[in-house]
Amino acid sequence: MRLLENSGKCPVCGFPTSQNCQANESFEPYGGREYLSPLAETETVEIDQLLARMQPYQCKNCGAAYLEPWLNAYARSRVFVTGHPVHNAGWRNLQQWIERGLTPAIPSSISSLFEEIDRRIGNFTSYVEFGCPFQGLLLGLAPPEDATLLIKSPESQFTMSSALARRRLLLPMYWYQKLSRYVFQISCYLTRIRKTRDRIRGRRLRDKPLFSLPATSFFVPLSSSRFWSANCSMYGGTCPAVVSQFSNVTVSSLAEVMKSEIHQFDVAGLFNVLDHQDNPMNLLREVLKISKLVICLSHNPPYTKQHHFGLGKEFFYKLPDRIENCEVVALSDLEGPNCFFLISVDQQTASEL
Ligand SMILES: [Zn+2]
Repeated sequence: MRLLENSGKCPVCGFPTSQNCQANESFEPYGGREYLSPLAETETVEIDQLLARMQPYQCKNCGAAYLEPWLNAYARSRVFVTGHPVHNAGWRNLQQWIERGLTPAIPSSISSLFEEIDRRIGNFTSYVEFGCPFQGLLLGLAPPEDATLLIKSPESQFTMSSALARRRLLLPMYWYQKLSRYVFQISCYLTRIRKTRDRIRGRRLRDKPLFSLPATSFFVPLSSSRFWSANCSMYGGTCPAVVSQFSNVTVSSLAEVMKSEIHQFDVAGLFNVLDHQDNPMNLLREVLKISKLVICLSHNPPYTKQHHFGLGKEFFYKLPDRIENCEVVALSDLEGPNCFFLISVDQQTASEL
């Protein structure tokens, strides 16, 4: 099949597939349809046949589970750039936060995270989060009421410029973005009505942030052929633009934050991000270098097939084999759909990563 390629090795650590074992229970056999169907349709391939060709393996070396074969570079571009350019899970989280003040991506064990951070370094004053801004702490740092700033603020620019719109090719996208802005406005008005009704009925609503914003907070979108990244936009704006509207977070780049000194940040957040990277181990090493503590939220199996690989608890428990002096602390019971860890290395090790 021209959309798939065999790599012959674990995409996380490079250990040969021939020495790994098949692990059918690690992936949902037909999981990931919503993301891969547009590719199958444009390439006139049967979606179930495409998914069935991807066989799950368990890496004996690093603990990752992965698919062999998986999407080649062309197919990845057709999935993440053109076929399904929107990260549903992230935008769904934003919508729930606006409507109900929920931060659904944050596990119920979030208090254990703050206790552990407090025990290790005290009050944290600098934070950097990577990948998708609607899966981690950034939504929790802002009060949900602030979402209305998106429509109130005169500097909100949630439409593409008319100069761009005049270019014929972009017209459909322009109208899509214009319309989605109105959909968003309507949903904000409905939210206000719902909140007023709830207040009249005497229901308590969360109108304060869950946590306070550290003085220095950065968000770093990442470029990857396995992730939506810069292609992902909704309501007429990209996710970094939307998150900048309601928080003081500085949107930056990996190259820029990597210029930081060793352990310059107190805490870094990788929320469902490593399993979408072209080289997850490199990213993890880089982040451990600049941050004292690294929060990792990841899926547990079974994974869905828009992921080339899944990084569940086995992977995190094996990390000390791959990164010297690496401390891995579990923050949740690890039996649910997610696993939640705090990872760190000492300053000396960080300088050698
Ligand atoms: Zn491996």
